[in-house]
This record gives sequence, structure tokens and C-alpha cells, in this order.
Amino acid sequence: MKQEKNIPYKIYLEESEMPKAWYNLRADMKKKPAPLLNPETLEPMTAEELGAVFCEELVKQELDTETAYFPIPQEIQDFYKMYRPSPLVRAYCLEEKLQTPAKIYYKFEGNNTSGSHKLNSAIAQAYYAKNQGLKGVTTETGAGQWGTALSMACAYLGLDCKVYMVKVSYEQKPFRREVMRTYGAEVTPSPSETTAIGRKILEEHPGTTGSLGCAISEAVEAATSKEGYRYVLGSVLNQVMLHQSIIGLETKAALDKYGITPDVIIGCAGGGSNLGGLIAPFMGEQLRGEKNYQFIAVEPASCPSLTRGKYAYDFCDTGKVTPLAKMYTLGSGFIPSANHAGGLRYHGMSSTLSELYDQGLLEARSVEQTAVFEAAKMFAQVEGILPAPESSHAIRVAIDEAMKCKETGEEKTIVFGLTGTGYFDMVAYEKFNNGEMTDYIPTDEDLAQGFAGIPKFEGNEID
Ligand SMILES: *Cc1c(COP(=O)(O)O)cnc(C)c1O
Repeated sequence: MKQEKNIPYKIYLEESEMPKAWYNLRADMKKKPAPLLNPETLEPMTAEELGAVFCEELVKQELDTETAYFPIPQEIQDFYKMYRPSPLVRAYCLEEKLQTPAKIYYKFEGNNTSGSHKLNSAIAQAYYAKNQGLKGVTTETGAGQWGTALSMACAYLGLDCKVYMVKVSYEQKPFRREVMRTYGAEVTPSPSETTAIGRKILEEHPGTTGSLGCAISEAVEAATSKEGYRYVLGSVLNQVMLHQSIIGLETKAALDKYGITPDVIIGCAGGGSNLGGLIAPFMGEQLRGEKNYQFIAVEPASCPSLTRGKYAYDFCDTGKVTPLAKMYTLGSGFIPSANHAGGLRYHGMSSTLSELYDQGLLEARSVEQTAVFEAAKMFAQVEGILPAPESSHAIRVAIDEAMKCKETGEEKTIVFGLTGTGYFDMVAYEKFNNGEMTDYIPTDEDLAQGFAGIPKFEGNEID
């Protein structure tokens, strides 16, 4: 391994250098992301309306487009110390393998039991629920990382935690389920008979293996029909992106410490929270006219919300119980093909990232899952870490960009977000290793079905 003088393999921050406030990127956006709308009145959601579903402080964070910095409460800073700062790693071994002149760094968020960045927001959301005197929170989980993260945070603070887990994951990932139960959470496969919306979905689609959208509908219903509970969400919302800014703030502090300026910043995008958090402080500099970066969102070709979706107001869930969010969307009824194993299955995208994408400040690429797993396998073999399939979308494009540098001879500095580990994704890895993994790219007709479900009202036309 050839190491550059003065650039360590891993860049850590001292405890005293850790961020003390989250950064709200919206404060620096001239054109703000569109507000959430009440689907009945089509008026912006008020704090009071949102307060029926979400915790008070989180509603304030959600609606605040002006305050640039939110101090991180001391209890949350203390919790962060258990697993942060996360390392910023120079991928010397990957560079050598690729024989690229590019300098590659990754910010590794998988060093906690939940195995992903989701704990950064879970602890914040659980903290505000606890502070409000609530008994517990409800949520949905797909692959299981969010449910695990929230279970850990709730156990730490002594809050009750009810998780609706997408049925296909519940069955494919029994160990994820057991981790959550070990942390004291109640885990229900979704759709379930325990909610009215779950029963309705089961009646209309008997035998369905569920989707994130269905699970969200159930978790929202469970929260609003029970005294002392609120709903919490692990991605998409502005508040989540705010908490995840810790990723970008640490990354920037670490790079600044060594005088490194990235050229390209890459992240995988499901609902957009890790990518939004990673790029936030860098995008802030760009919006203020201080610096210029290339930002790339990577999504699965089988769930291509940015690259092929419509920019419109849509429901955040299949059951259409949530407010309307303006975002790049495939339609709330869109369910990715059954062969899709790589995560990032959400039909929409954070409204902040959607707005940045619409303004041309963020690029998007879609990649096929076999190419993603090829990148994952190479990365695991040379860098040692077994990456989550989601994270491997970012690895794929980081490798592609590094290979471009090999052709052009450019010594670009590439930073990507390695959001988590893949220990619970071995069914997908097994498929790949057996040569049984296939790619499915939805046809325009497939997508048209999803688009047909986007609500129609004046000002929300889609082409
Ligand atoms: C949830 C998750 C993602 C995608 O969520 P975003 O909100 O888009 O960040 C990516 N990687 C891992 C490991 C995850 O658990």
C-alpha cells in the first residue's frame, strides 16, 4: 500500500473537534424546497396539524427553513460519543487495485450495531419524544437498519418502540428482527391485521409481501390511534437530513484538518438522508458562492426516482395517509420488481434534494444491481469492509469516476458515503455469488402505472 506523506489511512477527529450543532442546508437555499401540503385543503401543513403525528421539536425543525444551525443537545452529543466520530478512510487499497490517479475517501457510518448512519437521527428523534413526555414511538422499517437504530435509541432512553417491518424483509431477515427485539422493540410484519389500513391492503392485494409505503401507513395509524405515541421516520424528511448533517460536518472537519478539498462527492440515495447529510456543508459553500463541487446521487435502476421520476406533489406512503410532499416520485403505488435486492426501494426523494436536483445543483445516476454487487465484492476484498448493498451504489459510481480519472490522468479527489455494513444482506450476496442475480429496469409502461397514482390538482400537472 502506497501511502501519501502526511495523509493517514484513517482520519479521526478529536472529541473536542466534533460538531456541536447540526447544519440546516435549507437556510442557504435561495429557492426553498416546497412545503408539505395537507392533501384535503392543499394548504401548507401547519405545526399543529403535523403535531398530531410528529413530536413537537421535530415539527419545528421540519418547518424551519431559515435557522442555519441547531445546537445538538448534550445528551445526544454524549450518545454520539459511543460510536462517533466515524472514520474518514483513505481508500489506498482500492486506489491501488484500480491503478487510478484519483484519491478516494469514504466516510464509514457502519461502525455501530444498527450497521448504518440511521442511528444519527434515531437518537435525536427518540430524545425529542422522550423530552415531550411521550410513552413511545412507532415506525416502519424496510431492510431493517432504521428499525434497529430506533430500537437502540429507544432502549437507551427507556421509550416504547413499535416497528412495522416490510413483510418480505421480516421473513428474509429474521436476525434483523431479533436484534430489534433484543433491544426491546415490538416488531410486526407489514401489511398486518393490526391496523385498518393493513387489513384494507391485504384485502386488495392478498399475499402481498408489502412495501415501505404500506408499512408507513400502518405505523402512522398506530401512532395516531394510541395515546402518548408519535410516528417517527428514518429518511426523506427535512428533520432527518438535518440530523444526518453530522456526517458531512465531520467529513468536512476531517478534510479541512489536512487541507483536502474534494472534487466529487457521491452518495447513495433512497429517501436522500445520508446523501443530504453528507453534502450539506459542501453544498452550503456552493450555494453561498464560496466553492464548487460535483455532487452525485446514485440510485437503483429498478427504483429510479430522480433519473426517471416526475417532480410533483405526491403522498409519502401507499395508503395515502401522509401529507403531500413535492419531490421526484415514481408514484406512491410504485413497488420495485421482486428481483430487486439492493435496497433503496422508496418511491420518492427528500424534497430538499429534489429541489437541488431540479435546480441542476446535484447530478443523479442510476445503476443496475449486478454492477452494484460487483463493486461491493471488489470493495470487500480490497478494503476489508463488507458493504451494505445500499452503500455499494455509491461505491459503484466512485469506482466509475476513479476509472475515468485513469483514462484522463486527472488526480481528482473523490469522497463517497459508505453508509453501512451488509451482514444481514447475505441472501442478496448469495444470489450474486451463485450467478442468479438479474437486473430489471422498469419499462416506461411500468412507470406510467405509478405516475397515474400521483394526485391531480391545479399546479400539479406531470407533463
Ligand atoms: C437506509 C439506508 C440507506 C438509504 O437511506 P437514505 O435516507 O437515502 O440515506 C442507505 N444505506 C444504508 C446502509 C441504509 O440503511
